[in-house]
Amino acid sequence: MLKFVTPQYTNANVLSLCEQGIHNTNHLHGRFHACHERLLELGEEYISCAEQEDLYTLNAFPVGVIPEPPVVGTLTKNECEKLYTHYFAKNNKPARIVYDTLLAAAAGKCPYCCGIGNPSNLDHYLPKTHYPQFSILPLNLVPACRDCNMGSKANSYAMTRGAQVFHPYFDDDCYTTEQWLFAQYIAGKDSNPSVIDYNVIPPAHWNRDQKQRVEMHFKTFNLRLRFSRVASSCLNDYLSQIKRLYSHIGDFEESKRIIVQPIIDKIPEVNHWKKSMCIALLTELMPF
Ligand SMILES: [Zn+2]
Repeated sequence: MLKFVTPQYTNANVLSLCEQGIHNTNHLHGRFHACHERLLELGEEYISCAEQEDLYTLNAFPVGVIPEPPVVGTLTKNECEKLYTHYFAKNNKPARIVYDTLLAAAAGKCPYCCGIGNPSNLDHYLPKTHYPQFSILPLNLVPACRDCNMGSKANSYAMTRGAQVFHPYFDDDCYTTEQWLFAQYIAGKDSNPSVIDYNVIPPAHWNRDQKQRVEMHFKTFNLRLRFSRVASSCLNDYLSQIKRLYSHIGDFEESKRIIVQPIIDKIPEVNHWKKSMCIALLTELMPF
């Protein structure tokens, strides 16, 4: 999980840019304009809930109700979702600059998977299928990699505080400054290669919701498997380096320290897969 600074574009900026791109289809321009005040209020409500880790309490709209009830003013659920696809994310629309800026601000690192994926589009933290009223709210739009965006999060939403995945713009620093991700080195046997396994051990002093949230985040984005896979891609290299150095200096503990300690020191994120992996090698790897 990576923490991001809040987007430079405000809700009001986005409403204005979207409106510039709307042609008068089904009187949408005027009906959208009439909703600005309400959309601004909803944005404030979102911030207030997000700051308290209470986004799960916001009103979720059911899917498949026909005829669709209005969601904001006279705008239906489908129209709210189209605000995003037709007037925000579309290449030739004025609001597309916000989309591109949000994506670029991630600097190639997906916050949900701690940068193992490169963000390729924007994820609706509260999915627009269930929360169409927040379809173009910048604070609800998180740059995400394809794997994180296409996972189980897209089709569901949290109904309790503990079921919420991390929100990169809002959540408490404890999730990024206190260690909850741990790795274990599992030596290969016979023809099976050595692997790194990952698990979650939340700090004992966290409350039940905080512990549940970190477990939920780890599970929702399939991080155990994804971290283990990416760790495998460099594990053999580190093992070879340690082995080679050991054959020269004859001190196994010192060989491990020389190879992995600089990597541990260089990575600032406490819960980074590579940092946890190197700590596991330092503490668990036995002489070859
Ligand atoms: Zn990701």
